[in-house]
Amino acid sequence: MSISGFVDFFQKGKTFRPKKKFNPGTMRYSLHKQAQASLNSGINLRSVVQLPEGEDLNDWIAVHVVDFFNRINLIYGTIAEYCVEETCPTMAGGPRFEYLWADGEKYKKPTPLPAPKYVSLLMDWIEAQINNENLFPVSTDVPFPKNFQSLCRKILTRLFRVFVHVYIHHFDRIVSIGAEPHVNTCYKHFYYFIREFDLVSSKELEPLKEMTVLICRDSSPVHQSSSQSQR
Ligand SMILES: [Zn+2]
Repeated sequence: MSISGFVDFFQKGKTFRPKKKFNPGTMRYSLHKQAQASLNSGINLRSVVQLPEGEDLNDWIAVHVVDFFNRINLIYGTIAEYCVEETCPTMAGGPRFEYLWADGEKYKKPTPLPAPKYVSLLMDWIEAQINNENLFPVSTDVPFPKNFQSLCRKILTRLFRVFVHVYIHHFDRIVSIGAEPHVNTCYKHFYYFIREFDLVSSKELEPLKEMTVLICRDSSPVHQSSSQSQR
């Protein structure tokens, strides 16, 4: 299966929001490049996610959160025109799961929303977090906030829900544009990453449990990481 059609599709600007970029010359930019290079070299995704020796865990999490946001955003962008109120009146993940939106501001109580609205609010919220320099400092001289890892847990948990919805409700579209290998690789990378640092609870992973076993079956049992914040 060719990935070039998928890439062309992306390059036509089908994404619905600009990609968050790292500033060249910064340490986080080189960490991002380093992570990209090991990915492209085709080495085992499970080892790719491990914290490189001497690197700061929060920096490592920060570059991954931004990368996953960009990539999942692109994936959703490819099916967005098929994910409308009529087809997806709720943010469902199959018949057993439905996500409710709450942001403590406009939506104080968990509220059922059509999937496109939910995803749009979710992506806006993540974008606001990663662009907030108090939460995601641009300079390495500025320390990460104390709640950084719990914030990233929340971001990744919400991003996972986009995978759930896309896989369960829009997989036919993904297959029809030839993007299945790309989406699976992105999922696998995401999954290994969140398991490596225990960033999404098993309960949240439930809707894609069976699929995960299939996609990630080439791997050894999940390695329990003891990595914690160094601060
Ligand atoms: Zn949908």
